[in-house]
Amino acid sequence: MSATRVLVLNSGSSSVKYQLLDMRDATRLAVGLVERIGEQTSRLTHTCVGTGATREQNGPIADHDAALKALSEELARDGVGLDSPELAAIGHRVVHGGMFFTEPTVVDDAVLTEIERLIPVAPLHNPANLTGIRTAMALRPDLPQVAVFDTAFHTTMPEAAARYAIDVKIADRYRVRRYGFHGTSHAYVSRTAAKLLGRAPEDVNVIVLHLGNGASASAVRGGRCVDTSMGLTPLEGLVMGTRSGDVDPAVVFHLQRVGGMSMDEVDTLLNKRSGLFGLCGDNDMREIQRRIDEGDREAALAFDIYIHRLRKYIGAYYAVLGTVDAVVFTAGVGENAARVREAAVAGLEGLGLAVDAERNAVRADRARLISPDGARTAVAVVPTDEELEIATQTYALVGKDG
Ligand code: AMP
Repeated sequence: MSATRVLVLNSGSSSVKYQLLDMRDATRLAVGLVERIGEQTSRLTHTCVGTGATREQNGPIADHDAALKALSEELARDGVGLDSPELAAIGHRVVHGGMFFTEPTVVDDAVLTEIERLIPVAPLHNPANLTGIRTAMALRPDLPQVAVFDTAFHTTMPEAAARYAIDVKIADRYRVRRYGFHGTSHAYVSRTAAKLLGRAPEDVNVIVLHLGNGASASAVRGGRCVDTSMGLTPLEGLVMGTRSGDVDPAVVFHLQRVGGMSMDEVDTLLNKRSGLFGLCGDNDMREIQRRIDEGDREAALAFDIYIHRLRKYIGAYYAVLGTVDAVVFTAGVGENAARVREAAVAGLEGLGLAVDAERNAVRADRARLISPDGARTAVAVVPTDEELEIATQTYALVGKDG
């Protein structure tokens, strides 16, 4: 029997999320999370999807090596351990692939070196992703390990969209350009939206709004990304949970010169204490909606700023694409917050955009249209599934030889 299973690992600095999928029918066999790695209060939560049984392990897990061994033991208890001959590959989420990685890539020493070289542009993410890959390689050196990059889907952006208007020599020397992130989500969601419309991805133009705690928009023409809102780092673009998104870069100089803040303080301000959180003290859209309903003006203003930016990007990507077949909402806010979806397209009938109130109010975990019948531009909700996309890309690369 050929190997058909893929383990997906998403390694953060102190956590590892994992899912085991069987790619014959893309079913999930197990999902889990190891969190607070390196602390005394580490926790592993493991769910066997078949039985629905969840197990929890509490107690110190020292490092990623220990985390992988622990999750591997949990998988083994379900009879689907890392040593199983049915495991075809391990797919790793890697946040930054720069310009170099345009596709999922089987990891070897040269690939590891290149991911390492990208650490200066992804200091928070790439080191943790690398640790996860190296640990998994040590555990199963014989197994293909595939790196799937958050940036890869955006490498099709034309130079006009990818370059900042700064001195080209400086930009090239320091690799300063727009890379974009959330690429596996934008790829999956734009393809699924095409399917929902009953058309081939090559035949449709889609605006994807990935609205989670991090948020990004992308313009996808015929299945290829032509613009996206995140840039050199995930800080650019939309208003997010704790990130500012677009600001005048002079804000940084001003806060340093006039506010006496250090570079690190401004970095923390813009990444961790801005966005919805900075505006009203809450980054959870549920809480913001609750506060608005109670008449809280700070929360209402935060919501308005969030929506204003979102609408600007919808308009901008309309202009980038020329014609748009669908505007698609995804991720925590996009999938769940009907009020955000309604406000984002309100009054945009001129662009062919509208939501049907009843359809928009339906809560569901399937891809669905929320625009009225006969709308010129479809509005849709497509639940994202980054793990499935990583597994699909991984299996497409190695499955046939598995
Ligand atoms: P994500 O990063 O995709 O996991 O999205 C997380 C965010 O989704 C949370 O911070 C919330 O703001 C938002 N969210 C999750 N569930 C809901 C909901 N039912 N209504 C509104 N927002 C939600």
